[in-house]
Amino acid sequence: SQALKERDAELYATLVEEQERQETGIELIASENIVSKAVLEAQGSVLTNKYAEGYPERRYYGGCEAVDVTEQLAIDRAKQLFDCEFVNVQPHSGAQANGAVMLALLQPGDTIMGMSLSSGGHLTHGAPPAQSGKWFNAVQYEVNADTLLIDYDAIEAQAIECQPKMIIAGGSAIPRQIDFKRFREIADKVGAYLFVDMAHIAGLVATGAHPSPLPHAHIVTTTTHKTLRGPRGGMILSNDLDLGKKINSAVFPGYQGGPLMHVIAGKAVAFGEALKPEFKDYIAQVVSNAKTLAAVMVERGYGIVTGGTDTHLMLVDLRPKGLKGNVADKALERAGITCNKNGIPFDTEKPMVTSGIRLGTPAATSRGFGEEEFRKVGNLISDVLDSLVESPEGNTEVEARVRAEVAELCKQFPLYR
Ligand code: PLP
Repeated sequence: SQALKERDAELYATLVEEQERQETGIELIASENIVSKAVLEAQGSVLTNKYAEGYPERRYYGGCEAVDVTEQLAIDRAKQLFDCEFVNVQPHSGAQANGAVMLALLQPGDTIMGMSLSSGGHLTHGAPPAQSGKWFNAVQYEVNADTLLIDYDAIEAQAIECQPKMIIAGGSAIPRQIDFKRFREIADKVGAYLFVDMAHIAGLVATGAHPSPLPHAHIVTTTTHKTLRGPRGGMILSNDLDLGKKINSAVFPGYQGGPLMHVIAGKAVAFGEALKPEFKDYIAQVVSNAKTLAAVMVERGYGIVTGGTDTHLMLVDLRPKGLKGNVADKALERAGITCNKNGIPFDTEKPMVTSGIRLGTPAATSRGFGEEEFRKVGNLISDVLDSLVESPEGNTEVEARVRAEVAELCKQFPLYR
């Protein structure tokens, strides 16, 4: 980055600052990861210069010979990775992928049913402030109030009642496995499309650590940057080629203009990496690290929503210690650990306050943390949070000690060796 440093020192300084933050802190935001140098290189390439509206061999611009191959590689690798018939790799993000699916399959005013934000769903699944919540008759389902698990019988009853045209499964804070077969049975019963958003668990699905939605869903979307460890972006998959045609038209020209070819190159690289046996080991480590972290948090007196996790993430219930999510995530950040405040199901606190934090293991596992390190991380988190019980404004001594231990741990596991 010599050119950037010389051309634009002000901007370059932000990159240096961010790299330093990533290098010296522990990243526990469940939706983040650390891509390989190869992905970074593909994304920072001359492919950003290229316009390629359309699809491989059906473009509206000249000069697409090379990028046609780039995009086809991404498509073919994704098909192999998820064992499916159709893939569109052009959505600029997960939200754009979800918007394109709705444009392809719905009319304004149609009834859709998705999990509420507070139960673990995503904004794009019909939350009131989102386009999906404004343009459709969005009915939201909740987890079971006693078990905090997905309540398939209740969803079935609600679907029979509201007769949705689309049922959406998946979300951003679901710690347990989802039964996609059961979801499809419910969708079939009411004649709805089953649309699965596997953004969070795509890496687990790719390696078989979570059952795949593809044999069951009409349409599946994902982001490519979470457990899948690719560049930021979205993707749409299906086994139905007729639906695939509708999806292609909805993505372009329906919802987007030119695809981001440099990002698609990064996707192709990441899918190639995910097809290697090492990726399966990585995901297995992500899941066992999450189980270890959850167990330590429970040992230290914190609640874990549903009592544990089958995936890469968990929701920590801070109420047993009388703490709030906003105070907790700020204190952890001061101590060098990044996570996010997160409402727990049926939370009575406001979204900017919350009673919980969400923790995920994908990023720290990418830099090499195993169970021993996550045991330590769980104890460091608990030390910081416990100190807030006595001093809600933060215990500077504890936070400084943890910050030093975090820095030491990070030094042993550099981001890019
Ligand atoms: N779907 C789910 C389940 C997500 O968790 C997210 C992101 O957090 C998205 C969609 C949106 O992805 P993006 O931020 O790339 O638009």
